[in-house]
Amino acid sequence: MPRLSLTMIISLFVLVSFGQIKANKDSLPVNGPDIKVTFLGTGTPQPIMERFSASTLVQAGSETLLFDAGRGCLQRLLQIDVSYGKIDALFLTHLHSDHTVGLPDLWLTGWLISRRTIPLNVFGPAGTNEMMNYLRKAYAFDIKMRVEDDRRVEEGSKFLVKEIQQGVVYEKSGVKVIAFLVDHGYVKPAFGYRVEYNGHSVVLSGDTKYSENLITFAKGTDLLVHEVAIAPDTLSKSDPMYPILAHHTTVEEAAKVFNDVKPKLAAYSHIVKIYGRNEQELLRRTKANYSGRFVIGEDLMSFSIGDTVTVSQWQNK
Ligand SMILES: [Zn+2]
Ligand SMILES: [Zn+2]
Repeated sequence: MPRLSLTMIISLFVLVSFGQIKANKDSLPVNGPDIKVTFLGTGTPQPIMERFSASTLVQAGSETLLFDAGRGCLQRLLQIDVSYGKIDALFLTHLHSDHTVGLPDLWLTGWLISRRTIPLNVFGPAGTNEMMNYLRKAYAFDIKMRVEDDRRVEEGSKFLVKEIQQGVVYEKSGVKVIAFLVDHGYVKPAFGYRVEYNGHSVVLSGDTKYSENLITFAKGTDLLVHEVAIAPDTLSKSDPMYPILAHHTTVEEAAKVFNDVKPKLAAYSHIVKIYGRNEQELLRRTKANYSGRFVIGEDLMSFSIGDTVTVSQWQNK
């Protein structure tokens, strides 16, 4: 075997390092986790700065997948240096505005800035096709100007929409996305998703009440991301806030789901706070009913899933 000169070793090191830095930007590094999950928005319709509305990025192998496109998802993607041009597919859990209102910005500004040249795959419940068609009509003037005046490639502004049923909805490069029905009250259909890659998985609940079907599909997952609504114990059925609680999972119900699913880690996202309830109470009431690992999600909190599941908080918000 020829001996490597010092220059050759340095060149090799630079090449490998550069490759690694490049890989880190848009997809997972070769020796990194199997799946990386980043919360882009952990909030609800409430227009607050600390929690943007629902959106989660899942990077698995070579795939970059976005789940829901709530308020501010484009800004959050910019913060973690992921370009709209690199998103392989968008999966919608349901069509409530707190899960879709970031779409026009993500799509149009994302297209303009990233110079994307291929359509975006969009998966969602019945009604998704109509919503996406209307969005293109609503922004027809901008699209025309960007194509004719700014010379953007029109294909990059298009969508490839598929309305889904329960089951495998996406399979590419070893990454599998399974949709399952959840119970969001009157809002039907509403889906949760399970993403699998290399023997590991993450499950996203979407918006749901306590759901046995979710427990079935989530069993044995590494990371369970679940919504929650926290309200006073005394909230009566006649209270005007009760219908909100009735569309979501209470803290005690979420703890029961965690106990049944037994994930390596559970994380709350889409935290509905009713009548001034707060995170401290959420922590206390969950701990009283569940002894496993769990965290209360924050925007830009990320999770690395491999043989273990680790959590990182965002430092530079
Ligand atoms: Zn909803
Ligand atoms: Zn919601």
